[in-house]
Order: sequence, then C-alpha cells, then structure tokens
Amino acid sequence: MDFSWTEEQIQFKKKVVQFAQQELQSNLVDLDRREEFDREGWKKCGDFGLIGLPISREYGGGKADILTTICGLEALGYGCKDNGLIFAINAQIWACEIPILTFGTEAQKQKYLPKLCQGQLIGAHAASEPDAGSDIYSLKTTAELQGDKYILNGTKNWVTNGPVADLNIVFANVAPEKGKRGITGFLVEKDFPGVVMNRKISKMGLRTTQLGELVLENCQVPVENRLGREGAGLAIFNHSMEWERGFILASAIGTMERLLETCIRYAKKRQQFGQAIGKFQLVSSKIVEMKLRLETARSLLYKMGWLKHIKKTAISEAAMVKLHVSESWVQTCLDAIQIHGGYGYLTELELERELRDALGSKLYSGTSEIQSQIIAQMMGV
Ligand SMILES: Cc1cc2nc3c(=O)[nH]c(=O)nc-3n(C[C@H](O)[C@H](O)[C@H](O)COP(=O)(O)OP(=O)(O)OC[C@H]3O[C@@H](n4cnc5c(N)ncnc54)[C@H](O)[C@@H]3O)c2cc1C
Repeated sequence: MDFSWTEEQIQFKKKVVQFAQQELQSNLVDLDRREEFDREGWKKCGDFGLIGLPISREYGGGKADILTTICGLEALGYGCKDNGLIFAINAQIWACEIPILTFGTEAQKQKYLPKLCQGQLIGAHAASEPDAGSDIYSLKTTAELQGDKYILNGTKNWVTNGPVADLNIVFANVAPEKGKRGITGFLVEKDFPGVVMNRKISKMGLRTTQLGELVLENCQVPVENRLGREGAGLAIFNHSMEWERGFILASAIGTMERLLETCIRYAKKRQQFGQAIGKFQLVSSKIVEMKLRLETARSLLYKMGWLKHIKKTAISEAAMVKLHVSESWVQTCLDAIQIHGGYGYLTELELERELRDALGSKLYSGTSEIQSQIIAQMMGV
C-alpha cells in the first residue's frame, strides 16, 4: 500500500492552495449575508481548470485522474473559505458533468461538456421534489413523448445552482405505471419553453450557493436531449450518487485541516489562568479529536478514490465517506467554536459560518440516516 503523492501531485496541490488563497478572498462575510454567488470567483476557478478537473481533454476538462482530482479539491477547501462556491463547483462536477460524460451521446458531450468544464455554463441536478426527498424514486414529474419532443410537467425543489443554471439534469417518469423503472434523465436548458425557475430559496448555510425551485409547465424537451435511454434514470441517478457521495466532501478535508491549524494557533496563543489554553487537557483533547477525525475522514476518502481509480463499484464506501466526513466536519466546527470561546460565536471570526455551511452536508446527497441505511443494507442487515 502506498499513500504517498507524486511530485506532480504535491506541486499541483501547492498551486491550487496558492491560487485559492490569492484569488478567492472575496468579502465573504458580506457575500454570505447577502446570499450572493461569487461569479468572479467561479470564472477564476473555470479559467484555472478546477471546474472540469476529472473530465478528459477532448471534452475540455483537466484530465486529472480521480486521486489528483481529490488532491486538487482538498487543496481548494484548504485555501478557499467560500464553502458555497466550492459546493457549487462540486455539484457541477459530480452531478452534472460526470453523468453527461458517462451516459451522454457524443453530440451531448460535445455540446455541453467543454463549456461546463470551463465554467461558461452552470449546471444543476434536479431530482428532489416537495414530496420526494429521501424516497426519491417516488418522484411525480412526468415526461410524455409527443412527436420529436418530450413534454415535462412537475416541480423540482432543492436545485443547487438552479437560479444561475444554464442546464439542468432533470429526472422525470415516462411511464408512471412502471414505477421507478420509468424514471428517465433529461438535459433541460434554461431557455426551453415551459422552464420556470421560480425562486431563490434562502437557507441557513452555503448561502453563496444559489438554491432554487424549478417548475416545468408543459416544458418541451427535444428527444435528442434525453440522457440515456428511457427508464435509465435510476441507473444514472445511482451512478451519480456514488460519485457525488464519494467525492463531494473532498474539499471538506482541506477545510477541516485549516480549522485544525486555526485552533492550534489559538490554543497556543490565548492565555487564561496564566497559561496557554492548549495546556488544559480539556482543550488539547478537543484538538486531538479534531486531528483524529481529519485523518480517519481522509483515509476513507483516499480509499474511495483508490477504489474508483481501479474502477471498482463502491456504493457502501461512498456512503461511509459521506456519512463520516459530514459528521466529522460538523463536529470539527463545533469544537473550533468552543475552543475560541465567546469569540468563536462572533460572525467576524468566520467560524459560525463554517458550522452553518457544514450542517448542510448531513442533508444533501442523501441524509446521514439514509447513508447509514445503505451501509446497513450492504452488510445484509
Ligand atoms: C443544501 C442542500 C442542497 C441540495 N441540493 C440538491 C440538488 O441539487 N438536487 C436535488 O435533487 N436535491 C438537492 N437537495 C435535496 C436533498 O437531497 C434532500 O433534502 C434530501 O435527500 C432529504 O430529503 P428531504 O429534505 O425531503 O427529507 P425527508 O426525506 O423528508 O427526510 C426527513 C427526515 O426523515 C429521515 N428519513 C427519511 N427516510 C428515512 C429512512 N428510510 N430511514 C431513516 N430516516 C429516514 C431523514 O434522514 C430526515 O432526517 C439539497 C438539499 C440541501 C439541504
């Protein structure tokens, strides 16, 4: 077993950290307050090559293998504090580019991937509905073939990137009588007739990512924009969830490392009762727990990366990464606030925002309870 990075990967990681620290230092407290998406930051990430990192060169991507991709995203989380921007990038890579790369026709790949990879197009993945969350296969959006077009009707909420998206991967049922075997994917451009992006939804954290409700009212989608065959939606959704759950939180590893370093610095500097607070075991043990969580989360992530590198199916591992990294990230934020005492509670210290951002990770891409259920099922329980 070899855990070492190559010299190129080490240099790449350094370059990404440097880029993020120098170029993505927007006025985040303000952006968060105003719930604003950092378009300029997005463009810079596109120009740097981060938005299409794992996609092959022929479709405009960075052609990074999956381990190098993890390395780059981890570095992004370390160097950039805008978890909302990072979430938007991850949603684009795992839930939009990867499904098109895997299931798209050659024409679809040529049409959409280069622009998605360069950040010129923003993509979204619209599966969840008001009454179909964890029970996603009960979705009610329908698609009916009429001539050379499908007519889609339904409402999708929780569409990450939705209000700024140019392209939505929409899941709809072409044969509701067949249940989940009728679910089909569609590539729905924002200007197709019948597409209404209803509203920007306000949320607790990840406020710099835009979240919207997509309403499809007799929406006309050309047949050539069906993603995969009719009924393949289930396979597309499951495939994209395996990648998304496995890697959407790679950046959180970098974030946790940055928070750990912040806490170590503070624990060594802050004096109470005539000594550095880090000398109190109740404080240092929190830092030890942070380190332990970081390293266990990182090990799970790297193992997931290695499994995909050797092209293995890793459903249970993906669920474990998602569950462990999200729970670890939340606890790390709570510990970081506690170590900073009252100061940790202040907006200006930017730790409370980290906590609000981290909490979302226990919900999106399947809640922690759903990840636990998958892991239990895979063990035959
Ligand atoms: C920030 C954010 C971004 C998102 N982005 C997207 C997106 O881009 N595209 C998209 O399609 N969706 C997106 N979602 C939606 C997300 O996938 C759903 O919120 C999630 O799947 C849970 O569905 P729900 O909110 O309807 O909760 P419910 O399914 O109603 O769950 C409510 C509670 O019941 C629990 N529960 C439900 N079923 C079970 C069970 N079988 N066993 C144990 N517990 C159970 C859940 O864990 C939860 O605690 C996003 C969500 C968030 C918070």
